[in-house]
Amino acid sequence: RHADACAVVIFGASGDLTRRKLMPALYNLALGRYLAGSFAVVGVARREKSHQEFRTEMKEAVGKFSRRKPVDEAVWGDFEKGISYVPGTFEDKATYQKLREHLETLDQERGTRKNRLFYLAVPPADFGVIAQGLKEAGLVAPSNGKGGSRAAPDVQRNGAPWTRVVIEKPFGHDLASARELNATVGKVFSEDQVFRIDHYLGKETVQNLLVFRFANSLFEPVWTREHVDHVQITVAEEIGVEGRGKFYEQTGVTRDIVENHLMQLLCLTAMEPPISLEADAVRDEKVKVLRSLRPIERSLVTENVVRGQYGRGFVRAEEVPAYREEPDVASDSAVETYVAMRIFVDNWRWGGVPFYVRAGKRLLRRVTEIAVQFKKVPHTLFRPADGGITPNVLSLRIQPDEGISIRFTSKEPGQTTILRDVAMDFRYGAAFGSNTPEAYERLLLDAIRGDATLFTRSDEVEHQWAFMDRVFEGWNGGGGAPPPIYPAGSWGPEQADDLLARDGRRWRKP
Ligand code: NAP
Repeated sequence: RHADACAVVIFGASGDLTRRKLMPALYNLALGRYLAGSFAVVGVARREKSHQEFRTEMKEAVGKFSRRKPVDEAVWGDFEKGISYVPGTFEDKATYQKLREHLETLDQERGTRKNRLFYLAVPPADFGVIAQGLKEAGLVAPSNGKGGSRAAPDVQRNGAPWTRVVIEKPFGHDLASARELNATVGKVFSEDQVFRIDHYLGKETVQNLLVFRFANSLFEPVWTREHVDHVQITVAEEIGVEGRGKFYEQTGVTRDIVENHLMQLLCLTAMEPPISLEADAVRDEKVKVLRSLRPIERSLVTENVVRGQYGRGFVRAEEVPAYREEPDVASDSAVETYVAMRIFVDNWRWGGVPFYVRAGKRLLRRVTEIAVQFKKVPHTLFRPADGGITPNVLSLRIQPDEGISIRFTSKEPGQTTILRDVAMDFRYGAAFGSNTPEAYERLLLDAIRGDATLFTRSDEVEHQWAFMDRVFEGWNGGGGAPPPIYPAGSWGPEQADDLLARDGRRWRKP
């Protein structure tokens, strides 16, 4: 699909996110010729610097962080002509006046046609003041009501200029703050102009989940309570807090990973087929899943949720400090670096099927996967001496080594019957090469094209927080002891094993 002529305005343009993700993604899109010729990027941040200084900084960042190296001088030379910088603080009205004048010049000189994508690469506390500043400077065009739709690009090309805003997580830290944030942004932008980015949804394997489920006839018939015993979703990291102790002390893994990324994975796994891939059709189905989640009431938190915090241990044979020994972390911190939950999706398809989800830092291996475990065969024909029958598992690996594998029982070659659990594996890298676009490339391009399918809608965010808030209340109300310590480099606390053992199940050790 065609990308409109437009200016992408990045607030917080000297920040880490711009350098590491946004500018490399835009450059890669230019390299792939996905952007319109009339394209511009405007950086806005506090420090004074010239257009040329900003371009030089950005080239350095792209050279360092782009997946395509070295920088192609010809493509960069062309791309760079569209890069400029406007210094100013977010609080100062003059910043927006300067920006407006600059954007008008770009409309004239580069043909950006008054189409504007504002990317707020800043903490949520700044969203309100920036949105207001843009509005007062007359930089927000009214919505044409189609901004979030797949049909939008055509409509908009013939129509009025568009304005969109991309906002980064965290979308609040609980339901009340998420509502407040939605209201703040909603005062200036209508919902179809707001693109809430969850970079997990930009990952190829996550999108492939939709293709896998809805472009194959083999799996969907068994994707139900009749055939599925349970589902496990794992987001495991080897790294610790990596110098972000201060951030982590206020966040914890539940807010950082589970409330957003993991919930989105659960929704895509559990949702009904949407009537189309139109943004709201997909998001409506995800919201239905969120509305079907059985609330984990305060009194049920201990039974269904396990927290943990990493202690000292060994990761890849290297000794690493405990969470409480990390810089900027309190020596008696009760913040969770691991959480496991048992979640039920109370609807017709999934009634009674537990979704066990877990996320943690300093675990044995870096792996993100969705594993669907099927029911046991109804009757065993084989003797115990033949070896056990392991239930079939279909696993979708999101990272690393993206792929899909199906485990099934097979006979070992020989004169006697010996059963063996084997895997049928599909690996992205082997099938398609390893030149997979980064999540931010896809998402930025979708925002430029006006396709909000892979962005989170306000009601999704609120349902996600509503579910998590009960868990937080349970913890705050003494519904959970301080998180048990697990050794770094393990699979988490023993209590998490008990969570599944009580149901006669076990965590996978991927
Ligand atoms: P950062 O490195 O702290 O950068 C902040 C940027 O905002 C800088 O360009 C700074 O400009 C500018 N700024 C701050 N206050 C300002 C003000 N009052 N007026 C004008 N400019 C101001 O932040 P970041 O790591 O890029 O993260 C930005 C947002 O993205 C955060 O909300 C974060 O949670 C989210 N996020 C980040 C990542 C990541 O990979 N870093 C990933 C996901 C989400 P000066 O440098 O000129 O002062």
